[in-house]
Amino acid sequence: ERSQVINFGPGPSALPESVLEEATKGLINYNGTGIGITEISHRSKDFAALTAKLEELVRTQLEVPSTHVVLFAQGGGSAQFSSVVLNMLARHRLLHPELSDEQRVMDYVVTGSWTKKAAEEARRLGGGRVNVVADSREHSADGKSFDNIPPHEAFKLSPDPALIYYCDNETVDGVQFAYAAEDSPTAFPFHLLKNQTLPPLVGDYSSSFMSRPIPHLADHAIIFAGAQKNIGPAGLTILIVRNDCLVDVDAAAKLGATPVPLTMAYKTLADSTSLYNTPPMFSMYVSALVLENMKNRGGLNTFEAMNRRKQEKVYAALKDGEGKGVFRLRVRDGSRSWMNVVFRGATEDIEKEFLASGESQGLKAMKGHRSIGGIRISLYNAITEEQVDRLVAFIREFLAQHT
Ligand code: PMP
Repeated sequence: ERSQVINFGPGPSALPESVLEEATKGLINYNGTGIGITEISHRSKDFAALTAKLEELVRTQLEVPSTHVVLFAQGGGSAQFSSVVLNMLARHRLLHPELSDEQRVMDYVVTGSWTKKAAEEARRLGGGRVNVVADSREHSADGKSFDNIPPHEAFKLSPDPALIYYCDNETVDGVQFAYAAEDSPTAFPFHLLKNQTLPPLVGDYSSSFMSRPIPHLADHAIIFAGAQKNIGPAGLTILIVRNDCLVDVDAAAKLGATPVPLTMAYKTLADSTSLYNTPPMFSMYVSALVLENMKNRGGLNTFEAMNRRKQEKVYAALKDGEGKGVFRLRVRDGSRSWMNVVFRGATEDIEKEFLASGESQGLKAMKGHRSIGGIRISLYNAITEEQVDRLVAFIREFLAQHT
């Protein structure tokens, strides 16, 4: 029975049940057309209206300014690891054709497994050099754990990089930039960009998109997010791209830049209103339903407040468990994720017992990522406060049995 289960999976993850019920109707008969959403033409009026609605829902809730376009792509967050590099190197080539590859620098802030992977892809594609702006591991106690946002003093930005890359929320490690005033030591140091007119700032928001507003959104060159956490089925990637980053990649290639596949060039997507080729229609449909549901329930600010309360309750219970020697939080206070709560049991047996006991009570998908083990509980938008209360009661009961 679905109603007895809570899916704490890291993505793909829970979606609101009422939306899924609605989606099954559209799968059979979209908008009274007598044809299902996966069967109609992507060039039809009905689908154009859906694309426009999805864009509007993203734009209004995140307050995207007219300096930026909203685009829909495929290939997930991972394809963007490549796309941002190719497009931003092309842009930099047009701005500074005289520089050598060695002089063309891409700045990466490495705070977890996903930024590490993105930086590796940048190195692999070539055409520029990767500068690691800061690396969380160098600021951890054991020298190898992603358990913190590095101190602002440690950020070594290049003078005129092709891009400055960071990930708001590291899904595997549970490390997130603080959502707080800029002078918070673990917020993204936007003040370091204050002398740049158009900072080439790239943010991976895959696992925090639509969980709370995006600080300094207008200062970003590119923001991207796969849909499969907070907003819909896998297959759709949402992009917010500043107009000056919709560059003519062929003109850049003539100056020596790496040619960019047309499906990956942001300008191609923008020029065709994300309809260069067949888009992920079902994922777009469900995402629009999720965002509409969100809007009807109070919008982003309501979800921000709810998500703040949810994680506070869970971390409070786990800190209690830490005091009792049962659990150990992996990430330092101030750098902890709202979306992915990552911790260890005092022993592997305790972890196994916690997961098995949770599973038997319908609390599913809490196993940590295979690369680091332990426990990870994801609290995306579709996880309700009632479900969090059930989780917290389970944690407290577990603690009572182990102390
Ligand atoms: N970035 C982050 C922060 C992620 O969490 C993920 C996937 N979990 C990715 C990138 C890669 O996304 P995809 O699987 O859609 O390629």
